[in-house]
Amino acid sequence: MDIKKDRVVTIDYSLRDEAGKLLDSSEGGEPLIYLHGNENIIPGLEKHLEGKNPGDSVTCTVPAAEAYGERDESLVFKVSRKDFGEGVEVAAGMQFEAHGEEGAQIVTVVNVNGDEVTIDANHPLAGENLHFDVKVLNVRDATEEELEHGHVHFAGGCSDCGDGCDCGDEGCDCGDDCDCEE
Ligand code: ZN
Repeated sequence: MDIKKDRVVTIDYSLRDEAGKLLDSSEGGEPLIYLHGNENIIPGLEKHLEGKNPGDSVTCTVPAAEAYGERDESLVFKVSRKDFGEGVEVAAGMQFEAHGEEGAQIVTVVNVNGDEVTIDANHPLAGENLHFDVKVLNVRDATEEELEHGHVHFAGGCSDCGDGCDCGDEGCDCGDDCDCEE
C-alpha cells in the first residue's frame, strides 16, 4: 500500500541540520506514526513521502519554508522578568512553552538584562533547511475515528493514546473522548 492522504504511515527517520548535526532520530526509540495529509508532520516531508511504499528509503532536503518556516525577527522581543512569575529561574538559552492564539509554542530566552528579558518566539528550527533520512516501515488505511480527529490512535481509541498521543504538542481538538488536557 502506498502513502497517500488519510493513510497511517510508520517511519524510522533521522533529521539533520545543514551542517550535518543530528537533531532528532527515531533510532533507539519508537518509530514515528502519523496520519498522512493531515498536517501531523511538516508539509515538505510529506511531499517527499507521497506514493512511497513500505521498505522504501527516502533521503531528502526540506527547505525551511516547507519545514518550520523562515525566521521572523518581529518574533524576537522584550518582556518583563515579572511575566515569568515569582521564583522562576530565567536564563539565556532556556525554553518555555507558551500558549498563544495558535496553540502551544516554544519560546527561547535569548538574553536576560535585569528586569528585561529578550525572547525569541520563532520555532527553534525556523530558518533551517532540514535533511531527512527516512525508511518507510508500514502503511495502512486510517479508521473513521482517526480521520475525524485528524491524528493516529493507538490501542484502539483516543482516550487510550497515553504516551503515544501527539495531542499535547499541538493542542488537541479531539473533543469529549480524549483525555488530553488541551
Ligand atoms: Zn483523537
